[in-house]
Amino acid sequence: MSADNLKVNIKALSREERRRKFNEMGLPAYRETQLFSRICKGALGFDECREFSLKLREDLKERFSWEGARVELVQKSSDGTMKFLLEMPGGDKCEAVLMRYSYGNTLCISTQVGCRMGCSFCASTLGGLKRQLAGWEMLDELIACGRHSGLEISRVVLLGSGEPFDNYDELCEFLSLVHDPEGLNLSYRNITVSTCGLIPQMERFAEDFPQVNLAVSLHAASQEEREAIMPIAKVYPLSDLLKACRLHAERTGRRVSYEFALIEGKNDDEGTAKRLAALLKGSLCHVNLIPLNPVEETGLSGSGQRTASRFMRILEAEGIAVTLRRSLGRDIDAACGQLRNKHI
Ligand code: SF4
Repeated sequence: MSADNLKVNIKALSREERRRKFNEMGLPAYRETQLFSRICKGALGFDECREFSLKLREDLKERFSWEGARVELVQKSSDGTMKFLLEMPGGDKCEAVLMRYSYGNTLCISTQVGCRMGCSFCASTLGGLKRQLAGWEMLDELIACGRHSGLEISRVVLLGSGEPFDNYDELCEFLSLVHDPEGLNLSYRNITVSTCGLIPQMERFAEDFPQVNLAVSLHAASQEEREAIMPIAKVYPLSDLLKACRLHAERTGRRVSYEFALIEGKNDDEGTAKRLAALLKGSLCHVNLIPLNPVEETGLSGSGQRTASRFMRILEAEGIAVTLRRSLGRDIDAACGQLRNKHI
């Protein structure tokens, strides 16, 4: 084991813990602020902390290691989407996807290594949950992808591998870190957390982070259909989930987004669209229709343009706010979990 392995990773400490350690070393609190700011700007080690004297950098190197997310592989799509395979401390791999929109660059990050929710259309869950990601590691995904791409990332969605509410405390830590004015200072309004429907955590979240956008992965318009593709529906039935979403919108004054992956021949017919419209009519919401990115391992593929447009028109006719999104990155391993599965 190298001496570095025995040292405490400076990036893995909370800001409070770091201040305490610095205090023990006789350093003023502003030194921690400078360090946090450098971490958020993508510094790769103490040598890039130029406000520190050479002596202080050496002292810090003696006591602490500097480890974080490392970009191992990048796939670039012809539509500008970039998919990153990241190696996390300890060697686990996770993914992040950078999407280029006219209103800014959005990064979709992972909250867990793998996932235990078992959705039938998703590559992330095929090997189960390997481990939780810490809040600082989620932040580091953002920092590493920003540094590697050289692009400014103005929005974050937590929709990548993992169920954010299955890792609630670390999710909260991430949100506090990414919003910190001494770091990236990202507005809560530019962050979206997506869940497959863990109702108790949804209720807590409305209290803890009312300004963060909530997206719910729905993907079906009846209890029976949802249960068939999303096992979580057996624990939290669709009717309870929709009630919780309405309550969330009431409490926060913010509309809930529903993600609906259109799967060819499974959930893209006229009847499903009509049932969905009936379920959502009158609620403060927005539906995002996204033709599923094909996942080789499951044999499922996304609906064609005509079918997707018909589905959208049915919802529109019932007064539901709906957007048909392009499935970005079709020429790369864009589906959630796909790239990681090829590299573990
Ligand atoms: S869709 Fe989301 S919640 Fe479902 S298995 Fe995949 S990562 Fe997990």
